[in-house]
Amino acid sequence: MSTVRQMEKSITVRLRRWLRLQRPLSGIALYGSTNALKLPFKNLVEEYKVAIVRSSMEFNFSKNPKVAGAAIEVYTGRKWKAKNELSLAEERLKTKTLLGTVAKGRAGLGFYPSSSDNTTRKDALLQEVRSGEEEIRVARMVGMCQQGAWTKWESILHRKIKWLEIWHHNISFLINAVYDTLPSPANLKLWNKANSPLCTLCGKTGSLKHVLSGCQKALADGRYRWRHDEILREIVDIINVAIQTAKPTSHRRAIVFVKEGTKPPKGYTTKFNVLSGAIDWGLKADLASRLIFPGHIAYTQLRQDIVCYSNKLKKVIMWQSTVPWEELAEEAYERKKLKYEELVEACRANGWKASCSPGEVGTRGFVARSLCKALSDMGLAGLNKRNALRTITNTAERTAKWLWLKRNSPWLQSKDIGR
Ligand SMILES: [Zn+2]
Repeated sequence: MSTVRQMEKSITVRLRRWLRLQRPLSGIALYGSTNALKLPFKNLVEEYKVAIVRSSMEFNFSKNPKVAGAAIEVYTGRKWKAKNELSLAEERLKTKTLLGTVAKGRAGLGFYPSSSDNTTRKDALLQEVRSGEEEIRVARMVGMCQQGAWTKWESILHRKIKWLEIWHHNISFLINAVYDTLPSPANLKLWNKANSPLCTLCGKTGSLKHVLSGCQKALADGRYRWRHDEILREIVDIINVAIQTAKPTSHRRAIVFVKEGTKPPKGYTTKFNVLSGAIDWGLKADLASRLIFPGHIAYTQLRQDIVCYSNKLKKVIMWQSTVPWEELAEEAYERKKLKYEELVEACRANGWKASCSPGEVGTRGFVARSLCKALSDMGLAGLNKRNALRTITNTAERTAKWLWLKRNSPWLQSKDIGR
């Protein structure tokens, strides 16, 4: 085990250098399998343990009674024994079976499927060896105040980076931003590489959070507004397409109940969404000029991002997009929801069907579940939805990178900056 650990250490050093990541970045960021940003790298210690436990199981669970009864032990040195790891995995599997599937966040029961349905006992045990390793990594990450901040992200969709993206894109900014290891003034001071931890624009502590979402000077410059509009533009494009493909009818079929254990008949799933039933959808967005809320629906002083309305259906859908620091996404959602409650009520009082969907995209390109759900409500599904989410993510990431690069320079209003 000591040799394997030594090898893993040198792999980590080389990976970090190759990806141009900062030295303080923990190896857990590279290998964690439940991280908010999952990278395609495998941890050598974990793979070694799994391989040894697998071969140990081959002997001990053998169909040949002579082999199974011979109590064969795979030699692994003194530090770590496959036998102990296996009994630990068995214990964990037992506890897991007792516990069942647990609900997380706002997602309902059964949203996360249980994984132990179609796996053999051997596979389940190996999976437990892996989750044992992952548990240790997560526990260590939770203890890290700065790099482990992602463990507190709520209702944020996790991202998985594929090898192809690593080959074709420079992802060092993204990784360093997620784990807050970019050379921000505060970090440079922490690493003893600068004298002052202050933001060059406003003179407050210049952490990454400050640069990307909390600087008053940057806000006054219109930097955050620019980012917000860039993302909003993408969302408007997506909604535009959804409106154009809206179905003119919305005859809902009666609910067909399906017997337990049988599959629903083909073509049963309804393709209707909030836009179905009308093709006269009007779209207003707060982009080039200030959005004025349609007066025949309700009167309001509140500023909307996007308003879709159909006079035929007497239906209005409001969109509010925010770009919060990922830890504060849930808070931003609640705040926006509350803010527009009154307006929604006012529309309903005038006889309109109204809804407001706040959708958050994190400053580092992580999409919140609320935005994902709002897209589904508009009828986006499968590949279309994935593409839409990817576009939004990429825009958020690109704009964040630009704001970061320009953190010390004056802000020039130009049409195609940062593209
Ligand atoms: Zn500042």
